[in-house]
Amino acid sequence: MDFIDLRSDTVTHPTPEMRRAMAEAEVGDDVFGEDPTVNRLQAMAAERMGKEAGLFVASGTMGNLVAVLSHCGRGDEVILGDRAHTFLYEAGGVAALGGVHPHPVPNQTDGTLRAEDVREAIRAEDVHFPRSRLVCLENTHNRCGGVALTAGYTDDMGRLARERGLALHIDGARIFNAAAALDVPAARLVRAADSVCFCLSKALCAPVGSVLCGSQSFIAQARRIRKQAGGGMRQAGILAAAGIVALETMVDRLPEDHANARRLAQGLGQIDGIVLDAGSPFTNMVFFELAPAVKKLEARQVAERLAKQGVRVQAVGPRRFRAVLHYWVDAQSVDRSLEAFRQVLASA
Ligand SMILES: *Cc1c(COP(=O)(O)O)cnc(C)c1O
Repeated sequence: MDFIDLRSDTVTHPTPEMRRAMAEAEVGDDVFGEDPTVNRLQAMAAERMGKEAGLFVASGTMGNLVAVLSHCGRGDEVILGDRAHTFLYEAGGVAALGGVHPHPVPNQTDGTLRAEDVREAIRAEDVHFPRSRLVCLENTHNRCGGVALTAGYTDDMGRLARERGLALHIDGARIFNAAAALDVPAARLVRAADSVCFCLSKALCAPVGSVLCGSQSFIAQARRIRKQAGGGMRQAGILAAAGIVALETMVDRLPEDHANARRLAQGLGQIDGIVLDAGSPFTNMVFFELAPAVKKLEARQVAERLAKQGVRVQAVGPRRFRAVLHYWVDAQSVDRSLEAFRQVLASA
């Protein structure tokens, strides 16, 4: 990349090793279950998550959609955070395509849902009400600063859901970032969940795809729903090959991204005109704002000026930014980014 791209970890390109593996991948028709590379990726993913089976899907959005539609029928209800990716950023798919009723409860600043709120949201058996079927958590929590949810919290929510006959799904788009931050295996973080979906295409650098994991019977149903959603992908081993390299080479290096996020945050904290969010960063995302003293520029204009210096960041509000660290931004690039921020803010 000829510029430093901090807008998201979705901008990551595949590594040369991934491109080689893609070119050489053994393939078959995956709708017949005959693509050996897809099958291998699914088995590896299931093992990483401590689940019986996995299903390769086109995106995290498709993984969450397929999961919710596999757990819930039309008129059933999913309880999820009011800042959840599935609630905010998936085009209302669970309602539009599945007739599933989303029931948002407040996300706390640490990404959790309060047990009292979830308990209250679960419906009694009554002809007036939708049927509560599913609770969704998100780990790490994107809109809550990339914070990681602990195994203990997730276990408690799993117990709560199970006691009331509900399933638990985890949107684990960045579950390996959570695992790295908490220094526990990803499988431990999702032990209480009936299903989990994680992205290969973010910090793990694969070009396309996510894997949904759960029990054999859940994945059999999910395979049917994926087909309905148009997600039967034939010789998808070309894509899965990159996912295998992602799991083999990209998971253990995530602490580097977290260290670079801290490096960026420390540098930004020393620049007049920038105020870091409390606690940021928790993982690979740094959230910060323009200080009240900055009068001449808004976030969008700062982002435009940074772009001219070869640094791309995302303005996520009139005065607010998000910067995401990943494989293609090293410590030296962090230092160059900080220099660009210093220059732009000196004239703000
Ligand atoms: C990115 C993301 C998704 C969706 O992934 P896509 O592959 O972009 O569809 C789901 N959940 C969270 C928390 C995400 O950050």
